[in-house]
Amino acid sequence: MHTCPDESLLRGGNQGGTADLPPLGWAGDFCLMRRARPGGASEARMTELIYHTDSYLREFEAQVLESGPAGVVLDRTAFYPGGGGQPCDLGYLEAADRTWPVSGVRKENAVVVHSCGDNPPAAGVRVRGRLDWDRRYALMRVHTALHVLCGVIWRDYAAHVTGGHMDVLRARMDFEFENMHQDLVREIEARANREVETAREVRVRLLPREEALAIPDLIRTKINLLPEGLREIRVVEIVGLDLQADGGTHLANTREVGVIRIADYKSKGRINKRLEIVLQ
Ligand SMILES: [Zn+2]
Repeated sequence: MHTCPDESLLRGGNQGGTADLPPLGWAGDFCLMRRARPGGASEARMTELIYHTDSYLREFEAQVLESGPAGVVLDRTAFYPGGGGQPCDLGYLEAADRTWPVSGVRKENAVVVHSCGDNPPAAGVRVRGRLDWDRRYALMRVHTALHVLCGVIWRDYAAHVTGGHMDVLRARMDFEFENMHQDLVREIEARANREVETAREVRVRLLPREEALAIPDLIRTKINLLPEGLREIRVVEIVGLDLQADGGTHLANTREVGVIRIADYKSKGRINKRLEIVLQ
């Protein structure tokens, strides 16, 4: 979500380098976009990103397109490759009587590469992918929890997010929040948990760029600074609370977040403040 752009989508694209990229931070949530023109011989390979449309799929069938020590490229995958502050998934690939642990996943242009050790499944093999679901689901809970927090802090305090990082069941988020102080922390925590208990639906949509740009709430994520070549923008909405351009995996409803505890508060300067959250 909020920190690191999905550099793999930006690097080596069809046009432009990184010179016109917006700064890292909240605005850097690019893992969500699709390049307008994926054409060109070197970009003929593509992995269908199942996690973009179904974040609850934990097992799937796929074919190995390419294989080598650097990793395995599949024609489709539910493994999230990491990006936008959300770590990658882990899990297994299986075929017949063999199992390969997936120890890392990354995105390289239009494909997702799965690290499967020295003897990965060969090109052409049909495999079954199986996510480490406990890890993934915990990351979904923490990612949606951060959006709840951002939504509350924007709505009630008009503070922007400048960065963030997620881990399994814990995360930190930085805000431009000059008036933040320790006494506010419990109030923010209570308000965030109230939104969780409200059981708000979370919707994911792919919108044409122009349509996304016309949504006033999205302006604060500075998506208008995105490279011109991005035609579609993935939008994650916590209905009634928060709307963001986002490429990560999310819960279907805020009630699945559970209880948010703000475990730490740090002032990183006059304006920049950091909150750390923990989920049970
Ligand atoms: Zn996010």
